[in-house]
Amino acid sequence: MAQEPFDFAQGRPFDFAQGKPFIICDNLVKIYQIADLESVALQGLDLVVAAGELMGIVGPSGSGKTTLMNILGGIDRPSAGRVWVGGQDLLKMSDAALNRYRRSKVGFVWQQGSRNLIPYLNALENVELPITLAGQDGRKKRQRAEGLLEAMGLADRRHHYMTQLSGGEQQRVAIAVALANNPILLLADEPTGEVDSATALTIYEAFQRLNREYGLTTLIVSHDPNIARHMGRVVAIRDGKTATETVRQSTLVSAPEGESASESTAQAEEEVFEELAVLDSAGRLQVPKEYLEHFSIKGRARLEVVEDGILIRPAPQSVHAQMAETSAANMVPVPETRRWRGLKVLSAALQTTRNRLSRRRRGAGEDGREL
Ligand code: ADP
Ligand code: MG
Repeated sequence: MAQEPFDFAQGRPFDFAQGKPFIICDNLVKIYQIADLESVALQGLDLVVAAGELMGIVGPSGSGKTTLMNILGGIDRPSAGRVWVGGQDLLKMSDAALNRYRRSKVGFVWQQGSRNLIPYLNALENVELPITLAGQDGRKKRQRAEGLLEAMGLADRRHHYMTQLSGGEQQRVAIAVALANNPILLLADEPTGEVDSATALTIYEAFQRLNREYGLTTLIVSHDPNIARHMGRVVAIRDGKTATETVRQSTLVSAPEGESASESTAQAEEEVFEELAVLDSAGRLQVPKEYLEHFSIKGRARLEVVEDGILIRPAPQSVHAQMAETSAANMVPVPETRRWRGLKVLSAALQTTRNRLSRRRRGAGEDGREL
C-alpha cells in the first residue's frame, strides 16, 4: 500500500480529493556532484499543490526549476527531504516502480519540440506511439489519439509532419502526446521558451482548457513574467527554495470620475496580482535581494513588531560579519599570471642563493679554508 503522508496540522492523513493537496514537497534538497564540485540545486524547498491546480513556476536560470520538475516526474531523486504525488511517496518507490510511475502517471512537455516529438512520424502517429507502447492498439488507440488532437484544436493537422507545423502547433501536439496515457500530473518545462508571445498565448490557452475541462493538475515552468495572467497561482523559486507566490485577486473598482451618474455607480471587476513572500516550515522568509541591497541589510536585521505586522530594519553589522568580510577581501586569489611571475621571481632568487652557495663551497675547496 502506498504510504500516506500525514497532515500534522489536521492530525490525519492528507486527503487527495479535488482541491486537496496533491503534491507535497517537504524540505527537498538536491545536490549534484561532478568530480569534486558540489552544486546545490534545491536547498530545502517546500511546496504544496492542490489537486486540479494550474500552477506556474518562475525563477532565474539555475534556480532549480528543472530539478524540481525532474523529481516530481520521477526522472531524478532528491538527495534529502520528502515528496508525495497523488498519495504516493516517491522516495519509497523502487527504481522499477518509479519508472512505471513516470511512464504511466506523468505527462511531460519540454521546451524543445524535438525532445517531445519524432520528426518522421506525423502528428497522429506521434500521439499514438505512447499508447502503443502502453500496450493498447487498434481502433481505440486511433480514436483516443484523434480525440486528443481535436481537443488541442489540431484535428485538421493530424497528418502533418513536424516540419509542416508551426512552433505553437508542435507544442500542442506535444501536449496531446503528454496526455496520451491519461496522466495524473502534467509537467511542462518552459513550453513557451522558443515561441513568440502570440503563440505562447495559444499554448497557455490549451493548458487552461485541459485544466478546466479535465481538472488535470498542471505545473508549467516559465520565464514569462506575464504568466500569472494565465495561471491560478505562480510560485517563484530563488536559489533552490520557494521564495514568493503570486496570487490573483479580483477587486471591484468604481468607474473613473467625470462619467455620467449611472456609469459612476457602476463597478467593474479588476484583476490584481499580488506577490507574497513564502514562509518555509521553520518560519524562514526570503527577503528579495533588491530590498536588502536598498536598505543595506547584511548579516542580521532588526525585527520590530508594529500594530499590524512586523517591520524589518537594518541593524549594525556584527563584528564577526565585518571580520569575515575584511578577511574575505584579503583572501582574493592572486591572478594566475601574477602567481606565475611571483614563482619565477622566487625561483630566480633561489637560483642565485644556490649559485652563491656553490661558489662559496667551490671557494672553500680551492684555498682549503673552512668557510
Ligand atoms: P533551472 O531549470 O531553474 O535553470 P536547474 O534545475 O536546471 O535550474 O539547475 C539548478 C542548478 O543545478 C544549477 O546550478 C545547475 O548548474 C545545477 N544542475 C542541474 N542539473 C545538473 C546536473 N545534471 N549535474 C550537475 N549540476 C546540475
Ligand atoms: Mg530549466
